[in-house]
Amino acid sequence: MEFDKLEVPDEGQRVEVLDEDADEFEVPDHPIVPILYGDGIGTDVGPAAQKVLTAAAQETGRDVSWMRVYAGESAREKYDENLPQDTVDAIKEFRIALKGPLTTPVGAGFRSLNVALRKRLDTYANVRPTYHLDGVPSPVTRPEQMDMVNFRENTEDVYAGIEWEEGTDEVEKVREFVEDEMGFDETIHDGAVGIGIKPITEFGTKRLVRRAIDYALEHDRDSVTLVHKGNIMKFTEGQFRDWGYEVAVEEYGDEVITEDTLWEERDGEQPDDAVVVNDRIADNMLQQILTRTENYDVLAMPNLNGDYLSDACGAQIGGLGIAPGANFGNALCLAEPVHGSAPKYAGQDKVNPSAIILSGVLLYEYMGWNDAAQLVKDAVEETISSKMVTYDLHRQIEGGEKLATSEYADEIVKNIEKLA
Ligand code: NAP
Repeated sequence: MEFDKLEVPDEGQRVEVLDEDADEFEVPDHPIVPILYGDGIGTDVGPAAQKVLTAAAQETGRDVSWMRVYAGESAREKYDENLPQDTVDAIKEFRIALKGPLTTPVGAGFRSLNVALRKRLDTYANVRPTYHLDGVPSPVTRPEQMDMVNFRENTEDVYAGIEWEEGTDEVEKVREFVEDEMGFDETIHDGAVGIGIKPITEFGTKRLVRRAIDYALEHDRDSVTLVHKGNIMKFTEGQFRDWGYEVAVEEYGDEVITEDTLWEERDGEQPDDAVVVNDRIADNMLQQILTRTENYDVLAMPNLNGDYLSDACGAQIGGLGIAPGANFGNALCLAEPVHGSAPKYAGQDKVNPSAIILSGVLLYEYMGWNDAAQLVKDAVEETISSKMVTYDLHRQIEGGEKLATSEYADEIVKNIEKLA
């Protein structure tokens, strides 16, 4: 089905938004869900996810009408543009969507379509849970200790795209302004320079941190850690930390306490009845996730830190073939795996579709389809535990059976039918 508002008359297949600001909505039992396969391996993993997620919906008494939407190469072929307005409109209209990866050229070429899509949809929180599934091989000795949920700010920081290319009049103008008017006259080396700007706003920070704290409270998590590089970037990342603490202290009463309070008033004793908010410098955090894995729960981070940290967390629980994610706005969820388009494997029916399938689990949880979500999760775990895996896990598992992407999806569907 192509998206055309006139051709989708059935109101009963749309998410009904009750209160957008409060993120309140109702999902019908047979919704239309836009699906964007994306570039590279997207056309391998997208259909695999569709098959698995449909099976779980049907086994739990529901169904999904998938509606293909386009961006990236497929959109260039079909419509001669990178990101058609229809695609953005369809996701806005139906509120729940699944997306594969989109290629971004390095250096020259168009800007990231992922970043553009997140901005145009205002999906301000990129959420990436990293938990270990039984049987998944890992480079660390105790992968089961990893059970974190990363909240990455999705609309600002150095991803805002405010930058100027070397050799242009614009970059020279900015250099002049920075040197002559702002007083940084000995700071930028002479010669060619590229300059970028890193905006971190109170609005962007607070809504992200709020969402992370709400999640921690709802899911009975112990802590929220603000991960920043505020020792160096005091007025951006340092401010992210300060605004984060402000949310914690001013908006949640006794439900949330800071780590300082924990030590000053409670002798460091972790309370049962409150979420503790603390902060860590990003480079330290990258080692803490390896050395003190079990101490961390929910992380809230500016955009770039979140990108790095979530890939590093993903590596501990089986790599990018496994790591799921989702972008959230108000009453809107666009689920997508952490991995990219891995062009060298495109069209080979080879890569692991678990990451996009588990992203679908996040989507189902958001829709309130928790039984279907759990069924998918259990079926993926069952499949991997029986050593039926794609190439990436196969190379790490002794005695496993190597399956193609589509065969692996079929195996998960069989397990869904068995477990239902
Ligand atoms: P990538 O596409 O994630 O691939 C890096 C490596 O990760 C692959 O070579 C492969 O490792 C492994 N991998 C990724 N997905 C896998 C899967 N489903 N199953 C098994 N292994 C998987 O990262 P990249 O090469 O840095 O980026 C390629 C393009 O994707 C770039 O244009 C980038 O901008 C874009 N990208 C898009 C998104 C997005 O759409 N959200 C996110 C990240 C990157 P082995 O070779 O070791 O098997």
